[in-house]
Amino acid sequence: MIIAFISDVHANLEALQVTLADIEKQHVDRIHFLGDAVGYGPEPNPCVELIAANCDIKLLGNHDFAALGLETPDSFNEIARVSMEWTLKELSARSTTAMADFELEAIDGDFYMTHASPRTPDLWEYILDIDSACSQFEHFEQQVAFVGHSHLPAFFCKRADDTISQRYITESELDPDSRYIINVGSVGQPRDHDPRACYVTVDTKNNIIRYHRVEYDISKAIASIDSHGLPQILGERLLVGR
Ligand code: ZN
Repeated sequence: MIIAFISDVHANLEALQVTLADIEKQHVDRIHFLGDAVGYGPEPNPCVELIAANCDIKLLGNHDFAALGLETPDSFNEIARVSMEWTLKELSARSTTAMADFELEAIDGDFYMTHASPRTPDLWEYILDIDSACSQFEHFEQQVAFVGHSHLPAFFCKRADDTISQRYITESELDPDSRYIINVGSVGQPRDHDPRACYVTVDTKNNIIRYHRVEYDISKAIASIDSHGLPQILGERLLVGR
């Protein structure tokens, strides 16, 4: 079976459409979405609709949480807060109804999923390095935890001897005696200096994980950001993947 994991779409319809088309070419059996359908980007309603229609498991991110009124965007930085205030006005009743069914965490066989951290799924911790990863492994029982949130692809491996490593990979075999925390990167706002949309597939028969990068028409996404009156910086950062 091949499972695709996508995260952090952030209302970037151009990136999501191209990513879903690329996923279709991989003949995947399931698509799981790890949260942040909305926030920052200009097309929240069509993005929520596409995610709801195409994804099996659908999780809530911190921006979705704020969009549903489950917390105030007070902790957001200025740009995130401005775009959330815009998103709150733009979101349709149909989108909020669909998002109300999204979950904070989910399990599919050997795979645990949450937006930010297994330890506190609704407190939006960042797992950025070995220090922040090591205390997370005791908070899920499955072999692999898939997360998003930082918009940075990351691959943490805990071996049977309890040593933890962080590696940059594009493809790797999963060792059955090791456990993993895998950040699948971001579809709609990558921040690893690579502006291409990012997602992950796992081939469960051969235990292979792969990162995929997909080019999309960033100029179209920027034109939409500008025409909706969202802060210009949101388009500029898409060009440089930051
Ligand atoms: Zn995000």
